[in-house]
Amino acid sequence: MRIAMIGTGYVGLVSGACLADFGHNVICVDKEWNKIAALNAGQMPIWEPGLDSLVAANVAAERLAFTTDLAAAIENADAVFIAVGTPARRGDGHADLSYVYAAAEEIARALTRPAVIVTKSTVPVGTGDEIARILRANNAPDGTSVASNPEFLREGAAIRDFKIPDRIVVGAEDDRAREVLHEVYRPLFLNKAPILFTGRRTAELIKYAANAFLATKISFINEVADLCEAVGADVQEVARGIGLDNRIGPKFLHAGPGYGGSCFPKDTLALLQTAEAADVPMRIVGSVVAVNDERKVRMAERVREALGGSLQGKKVAVLGLTFKPNTDDMRDAPSLALIAGLQQQGARVAAFDPVGIDHARSLLPGVEFADDSYSVVDGADALVLVTEWDEFRALDLRRVAETMNGNVLVDFRNITNAEDALAAGLSYFAVGRKPII
Ligand code: NAD
Repeated sequence: MRIAMIGTGYVGLVSGACLADFGHNVICVDKEWNKIAALNAGQMPIWEPGLDSLVAANVAAERLAFTTDLAAAIENADAVFIAVGTPARRGDGHADLSYVYAAAEEIARALTRPAVIVTKSTVPVGTGDEIARILRANNAPDGTSVASNPEFLREGAAIRDFKIPDRIVVGAEDDRAREVLHEVYRPLFLNKAPILFTGRRTAELIKYAANAFLATKISFINEVADLCEAVGADVQEVARGIGLDNRIGPKFLHAGPGYGGSCFPKDTLALLQTAEAADVPMRIVGSVVAVNDERKVRMAERVREALGGSLQGKKVAVLGLTFKPNTDDMRDAPSLALIAGLQQQGARVAAFDPVGIDHARSLLPGVEFADDSYSVVDGADALVLVTEWDEFRALDLRRVAETMNGNVLVDFRNITNAEDALAAGLSYFAVGRKPII
């Protein structure tokens, strides 16, 4: 198959490289010339484990190329994927579809023969219908069709998720679209990955329902964590105790500082907008969003309380800035709200992240960035663990305690052993467990 991927970000680049690895011919397009220039020079614009070698191998095999020229990329394409951003619109939280519609218009104008236009971006129900309208209005060739193929990969494990997915969802309204997408995903089909063919609107909604459900699990266990703290129970054990029930499952039951990232916050808001427009109350999702928003703001208070009630003049060291480990993505990271809250209350903040500092710099004015996990705690009154990078799980806590000025460790990811912290002379504050002082 000849495939064009419009948008070469976290999803477009990984999807393009994996589809090329399946044996298809893929051209990835982006408007940002510096991204394309970097890729053509063999440099990855994002940090994703295994991506550089996957891209290099497929470029060398001449199955993968990068360009800013959309018209040239789609000239002979059987399938044109749209993988541009759909951020939350400021003010109302509706998905901003301007990038999707602009791409659809450009595609319509440049197509010289029919192709299947596939929305990989996360888009609200009915967007496929609007794309079809835009294609018709801009005289796309007859026989051009529109399908929805939402993406479920997770940053940090994106290549594995794309190649060994739990399922592939294809929403299509015509046989041609189903045939082309069947062919695109044939290697996964052969590997017995479940492929679900649905109507286009259903596929669009599956993506939002999936993300809203995962966000619900997180907000749920976070509320249980609060209750654990109040009644002297341990949320780690509660999560294990409920997660071993197959009907519940152990994943997404980790209490923490609230969910963030490039998907859950915006997708839950967009789903609420869809529900409102359809006049269907979604009270559970509304509560999930409210619980998470409040939680993110409260995290700075927890640090203040751990420090005895005031942050004024205190130095707080933050470990982990990205919204989760193994990515450089800072979009809606919990660290942003936390650090802003600490600074507002008079704290001086130093921070370290294994790969996120370049992206974090412009988002976190006034923060001192350190070179490693130990220099960041130099003279700190408190150490706050925000992202569970593997290297933070094995911190030498004695060395940390010796380098610090104070002795407060706030672990928002419950990755530290409480006894080790105590043995190192630290006061340990976790989530959903008794503090050990
Ligand atoms: P991103 O911001 O990393 O990438 C989008 C890219 O599209 C940018 O490089 C941008 O320059 C480019 N672009 C915008 N308009 C363009 C146009 N007209 N022509 C060519 N390029 C254009 O975004 P992302 O994280 O890859 O997300 C893309 C979509 O996938 C979103 O809808 C998101 O919700 C969804 N999604 C993301 C993830 C994730 O983990 N990041 C997972 C599943 C689904």
